[in-house]
Amino acid sequence: MTKDIKIVLDVDETPKNYYNLAADLPSALHPPLNPATKEPVNPSDLEVLFPKELIKQEVSRERYIPIPEEVRDALIKMGRPSPLFRASRLEKALKTPAKIYFKHEGLNPCGSHKPNTAIAQAYYNMKEGIENLTTETGAGQWGTALSYAGALFDLDVMVFMVRVSFEQKPYRKTIMETYGGEVFSSPSSRTDYGRSVLSKMPDTPGSLGIAISEAVELAAKDDKTHYALGSVLNHVMLHQTVIGQEVQKQLKMIEEEPDVLIGCIGGGSNFAGFSFPFLQDKIKKKMNYEIIAVEPSSCPSTTKGEYRYDFGDSAGLTPLLKMYTLGNQYVPPPDHAGGLRYHGMAPLVSSAINQGYAESVAYDQNEVFKASMLFAETEGIVAAPESAHAIKCCIDKAVECRKNKESKTIVFNLSGHGLMDLKGYEQYLKGML
Ligand SMILES: *Cc1c(COP(=O)(O)O)cnc(C)c1O
Repeated sequence: MTKDIKIVLDVDETPKNYYNLAADLPSALHPPLNPATKEPVNPSDLEVLFPKELIKQEVSRERYIPIPEEVRDALIKMGRPSPLFRASRLEKALKTPAKIYFKHEGLNPCGSHKPNTAIAQAYYNMKEGIENLTTETGAGQWGTALSYAGALFDLDVMVFMVRVSFEQKPYRKTIMETYGGEVFSSPSSRTDYGRSVLSKMPDTPGSLGIAISEAVELAAKDDKTHYALGSVLNHVMLHQTVIGQEVQKQLKMIEEEPDVLIGCIGGGSNFAGFSFPFLQDKIKKKMNYEIIAVEPSSCPSTTKGEYRYDFGDSAGLTPLLKMYTLGNQYVPPPDHAGGLRYHGMAPLVSSAINQGYAESVAYDQNEVFKASMLFAETEGIVAAPESAHAIKCCIDKAVECRKNKESKTIVFNLSGHGLMDLKGYEQYLKGML
């Protein structure tokens, strides 16, 4: 057997700590601002929405933060460490001298990287005596992961699902409900904000910004209810770093050094989790990694947006974050990569891009689906449309290697499978995108 076809770690190699990029990023991060006073947020202001432990992580500058044993056990039970594969048939099809590897985050029960943080967030909320969680979901992966984690730690989960996805992906609702979650199409008539949007824009496709406002509104009104966010915030980036730490060990096992690291970006969490441990080496050991974040050209926050303070939601209820943004009123066109349709970008990812440690590119959905078809035909995996953005970039890089006769090692993060996103594939196959 070829030794690098599937690189698997032992269960006890599952990371024991989260890695915090805020400890190593040279220029200090900009603090979140209170929406009313525009002064830096007092961490205790956030206690209506989040448990204290997560707020501590949000503002932490500690390099390593221990993963609680119960969380680590739950991560192991859902399949960590996840395998790293060599995409040898894709290499052959592209006739490239490059070596291509991908980290597969789609093999757990939820099918994406999202449970890495959902489990941690549900755990810390449960520890603090919280009984209900509210959240938003775009394509449905986050709502699925949080419903799953809620079931593990006995929390009731209420999910506001962006209307366009609610309609495109009806079975997503069924999975969430099977885990005990309650799902509403957003904007909904359950909240003041939802009702106000519905009265002004009855035909809106919805947006993550609107759904976040609805979830935050309900959490702020009840003591036993907290809010959980699936991306963007520092503590979410932190929880996802189990991905990159595993990849580092896996590459070491086969004595491989990466040249190019690629991930797609919606709010930035799978990219952060995959790339931040490598970014640490880029900053401290001056490693020459090319780190690329890929976004859809329909929601180009880092390639076309501004780097400034903006709200995380549409209603302006959340603190202001310093990030790349298209403006909190931006409603992206109904693109199939629902998980990438967010107006902003994680402050840590924004800062890494702004400081030149990572670069970003944007692609159209048609070229992305085309790349994904080649990946399915060669590697046998139907990727999530979000992850397909990383595949497209990887293929472009591998083709560049063929032209330049360079044998680079390219590693990308396959953030999830696309078996719940077949509507998009169907429309692509019919030429209707
Ligand atoms: C949610 C999601 C994304 C986008 O979110 P990030 O926070 O940027 O990772 C990407 N891929 C999949 C499969 C997702 O579920």
